[in-house]
Amino acid sequence: MEVVARAIARLAPDVPAHVAVRAARDEIEVVRGAVRQGQQAAASDAIAEAGALRARLVLADAPRPVINATGVIIHTNLGRAPLSERALAAVQAAAGGYSDLEYELATGRRGSRSNHISDVVREVTGAEAALVLNNNAAAVFLALEAHARGRDVLVARGESIEIGGGFRIPDILQASGARLRDVGTTNRTRVGDYARAVTDETAAIMRVHPSNFAQVGFTESPDARELASLARACGLMLINDLGSGALLDTTVYGLAREPLIGEALEAGADLVTFSGDKLLGGPQAGVIVGSDEVVAPIARRPLARAMRPDKMTIAALRATFGQYLRGEAAATVPVWQMIAAGIGELRERAERVSAGVTGVRLVDSRAAVGGGSLPGQTLPSVAIEVLKPRGGAEALARRLRKASRPVIGRIRGDRVRLDMRTVLPRDEGALRETLQAL
Ligand SMILES: *Cc1c(COP(=O)(O)O)cnc(C)c1O
Repeated sequence: MEVVARAIARLAPDVPAHVAVRAARDEIEVVRGAVRQGQQAAASDAIAEAGALRARLVLADAPRPVINATGVIIHTNLGRAPLSERALAAVQAAAGGYSDLEYELATGRRGSRSNHISDVVREVTGAEAALVLNNNAAAVFLALEAHARGRDVLVARGESIEIGGGFRIPDILQASGARLRDVGTTNRTRVGDYARAVTDETAAIMRVHPSNFAQVGFTESPDARELASLARACGLMLINDLGSGALLDTTVYGLAREPLIGEALEAGADLVTFSGDKLLGGPQAGVIVGSDEVVAPIARRPLARAMRPDKMTIAALRATFGQYLRGEAAATVPVWQMIAAGIGELRERAERVSAGVTGVRLVDSRAAVGGGSLPGQTLPSVAIEVLKPRGGAEALARRLRKASRPVIGRIRGDRVRLDMRTVLPRDEGALRETLQAL
């Protein structure tokens, strides 16, 4: 091992000795594992090189920037929504020094971090009050914990869903101390089903937007307004977890309708929850909007302190909402720029990136919104396809992932496709260089 560690130190002289030793140990473990599986041991040079790479990665910044060429706009594994220039500048300004995060400049007294968000959210959504938490999972959890602890919550069977990453509605309900009461059937649930399930123990009705799957065929779900009337008549709270929740109309871009936050409120929901980093196009966050009467008790729960967003989130979220307020979101928020990009523009960009590169061609492709929005819906797109990759498509995909600026594409049969709709304009040069180097 010492021999390998010394070789690593020679290859990567800037790496501290103990980091080189650990990298040597880890790399030798990898080789041993391979040998146990009947593979041949790697040459000592190769082990040292892999160890040096491993040691350098320990010292490198992370997460590493990658080029998303998957054609999935809101890709949870790739960090969901990229922030706008404006949001990035706001983060830098707020986080690089001191700020009035919890300080009232007018009075010199302690302020509330939520106040930086509530005015813009109110303006954009029409809600009376807003609370921002770490993510939407926290928002749903805390809304239930505040308003339904020890009592029943009615959820349609078709909405008792799993979002992914361990977020399952029955589990969140249970963790919050609320009791789940299933209502209706998997494919059809009517207002009458909810009405029959109401008892003295019922605290709330919760709607959950089935973000990541679509039901087709013999299906029925209750009208939002009728359900709100029922909730009001029975003195129940109506909670609507929109998941993504949109502020702009997706049908303008040839997509199906993603529910609008303002409409959900207008239809009578007492509380609406949504993510900051899905269709909103901002930082990871969970936003709760509703009347002051129902939002304020959530903010007062002890766990609200454990789920509060940091100053970078607040700065980015406020800047993002500001872009909606100014009516410029479709042109300046990256998620919406990608949704709105025309096919001619994508073709031009693909031509620019691939000009002079041999062994590639442009093909029509389909991009998706992703991130638990609009399942099954696609947008026409243009992809750069690498023809006859050396060693096969898997090997090429691996080489692309190992590029100094990793590129994540999609394998289609024996080809690798790089979808232009999700490649940020500022990454075009890096993508072109990587393609040329292949
Ligand atoms: C994505 C999603 C969540 C979880 O939101 P996070 O911000 O990822 O915590 C909750 N509910 C629904 C319906 C979702 O789509």
